[in-house]
Amino acid sequence: MNTLQERRWQAIAQRQHDDTFFYSVKTTGVYCRPSCAARLARPENVAFHDSAEQAEAAGFRPCKRCKPDQQDPHRLRAELVERACRRLEESEPPPDLKELAAQAGLSPFHFHRLFKQLVGLTPKQYERARRAERLRAGLAGAESVTEAIFEAGYQSSSRFYENSREILGMSPSHFKKGGENRRLGYCLRPCRLSGWMLVAASETGICGIFLGDRPEPLVEELRRRFTHAELVPAEDALEAWVQAALAMVDAGESALELPLDVRGTVFQHQVWEALRSIAPGETRTYTQLASQIGRPRAVRAVAAACAANPVAVAIPCHRVIRADGSLAGYAWGGPEVKRALLQREARQQGF
Ligand SMILES: [Zn+2]
Repeated sequence: MNTLQERRWQAIAQRQHDDTFFYSVKTTGVYCRPSCAARLARPENVAFHDSAEQAEAAGFRPCKRCKPDQQDPHRLRAELVERACRRLEESEPPPDLKELAAQAGLSPFHFHRLFKQLVGLTPKQYERARRAERLRAGLAGAESVTEAIFEAGYQSSSRFYENSREILGMSPSHFKKGGENRRLGYCLRPCRLSGWMLVAASETGICGIFLGDRPEPLVEELRRRFTHAELVPAEDALEAWVQAALAMVDAGESALELPLDVRGTVFQHQVWEALRSIAPGETRTYTQLASQIGRPRAVRAVAAACAANPVAVAIPCHRVIRADGSLAGYAWGGPEVKRALLQREARQQGF
């Protein structure tokens, strides 16, 4: 058997819902869907067909049990749910359960159960998850947090605050306490800039880029910041992101393509967004940054948010200096690393 045949045989053995092929059984003269509950035939008696027509042209009759010549009911259900997902994503305000069920021609009870069964979330949870996803994606490119919130479909910032527990899985104050509860992969690499780099990531993006001169303190820092996360060494899985992070840290390549999954309070996100608006080769003071986000008196809080930045260089907290021009501290390797970064950026921009 070649790979395709092996895969198809696996699908039959596991009764998978796969409508890309059918199979016939020589000894019975019948053809079936892969999901058919009929007794598993011997492999030597089985042939595969790309369509029902092909199976019939080869002289096989449709099975009475799985009715391969008729519309697949599983596929119909999947299409109903798929259509509901699109509507949840695209309509503003999102349709309620009654509306969705009516469109699918099912009772709210049955529709809810079917949706949960196929998607793994209730329609409401799905709608919130997609919205939060859009918000996180929007935060990376938006001018301001407020703009990102509007674009993600929240009607006002205050509604975002109200709902933040459900949307982000926890309230803003819990973020501060490292109340994460998720699985993160991490990977340590030597780097030229500071000696060592640690990259940590969730399934959706990079949540930590730490720099320092020794590896152990970076792992300790990871544990300290993500107290409740399950931390798993993940060399291979993170390779592409690690390479991109290295290119950014060691060669000064753009950080904008790196997918980030950074979590923080709304205020921290405002500061981090403002940091990302500082072009390479430029610097700001903490006071300027505080004015930029419309909180001119919150200079100390801004400095604290800069220090809390979990992704070195990708969110360029190194571009913030003191009003007197001195560098101030740098959590990721100290002032020498900060100086080296600023000098390289000035050079690359031709200053
Ligand atoms: Zn069958």
